[in-house]
Amino acid sequence: MKLATKLIHAGAEPDPSTGAIMTPIYQTSTYVQEAPGKNKGYEYARSQNPTRAALEEAYAIIENGKFGLAFSSGVAATDAVIKLLAPGDEVICANDMYGGTYRLFTKVFERFGIVFKYVDTTNASNIDDAITTKTKLVWIETPTNPLMNITDIAAVAEITKPNNILLAVDNTFASPFLQNPLELGADIVMHSATKYLGGHSDVIQGALMMNDAELRDKLYFIQKSCGAVPGPMDCFLVLRGIKTLGVRMKAHCENGKAIAHWLKNNAKVAKVYWPGFEDHPGYAVAKKQMSDFGGMISFELKNDSVEEANRVLSSTHLFSLAESLGGVESLINHPASMTHASIPREERIKNGLSDSLIRLSVGIEDADDLIEDLNKAIG
Ligand SMILES: *Cc1c(COP(=O)(O)O)cnc(C)c1O
Repeated sequence: MKLATKLIHAGAEPDPSTGAIMTPIYQTSTYVQEAPGKNKGYEYARSQNPTRAALEEAYAIIENGKFGLAFSSGVAATDAVIKLLAPGDEVICANDMYGGTYRLFTKVFERFGIVFKYVDTTNASNIDDAITTKTKLVWIETPTNPLMNITDIAAVAEITKPNNILLAVDNTFASPFLQNPLELGADIVMHSATKYLGGHSDVIQGALMMNDAELRDKLYFIQKSCGAVPGPMDCFLVLRGIKTLGVRMKAHCENGKAIAHWLKNNAKVAKVYWPGFEDHPGYAVAKKQMSDFGGMISFELKNDSVEEANRVLSSTHLFSLAESLGGVESLINHPASMTHASIPREERIKNGLSDSLIRLSVGIEDADDLIEDLNKAIG
């Protein structure tokens, strides 16, 4: 079955009790049992909920995986993966990943004795060099946030597999519409469903997808034991969002392409980060592992100052100044003071994330209107 069809039908069985075509929001905490220990597969809603079950099935199907698990946020999903580990275990991860992931690793899990090594994963051999007998997990993100660096997932899997190291990929920026890491050899895919999967900026949620049943059972055990589960209303919203992922992503990609090219030709813009440009260092890999290049773009101004960036950031009207991404509406963001403020400045600059960098989440409005908005703001 093709993806466009899967997105509509994944996890969507008519409700057994009424035939409702949309999965109902089972707003309940518990389930009445016929006799002690005799139930319909549902005992308590932290462990099982039918709305969540439908969404988890959809998660598996849209990533071409066997299993899906839903969490109360993207970072809760990441948190569950790290809880597979024990003190002393080592994780190799990307040096320019999502700021909240970095914060979770450095400020929470380091205290519990998990060791994180940050490397430039765009060159897979850097991962190879960092592996020790204690390495249990490689955590990558591609494209990265906000510099759009590309890591070759298949090349990393070739390193992790023979070493029995788990490979987890944060696939939030690409969405399952553009990239399917499980097919490229990843063991776990993570999504902030808050972004493209939900798609309407109205829900916080996270997802994990995997193929291995034992790994699924371990992660399910963590999900129910630690309890970071999403409520049924949130599951319903993401189920609904997924249905339009295909049409939305096509529009995000089309608008992204138009705006990236427009920015590149703008005299006031110094540099545009978008993996669809042939001179982008990750272009060849992006072309190989993604079906299109997405609607996330970052750029630097020729007048490379925080003041000039602030002027542009406060001058757009259609692009709203906000954190987050992947919704139908266009957003503009200043990583240094917003999404990546938790990364120390020195570290940030070292990783190429300048003070004046501006990130766009291009929405699905008309591209001409979006360009006019940016044109007025950049002036
Ligand atoms: C937003 C985001 C996260 C965290 O997800 P939440 O749903 O906000 O907890 C993780 N990774 C990436 C790439 C993100 O954009």
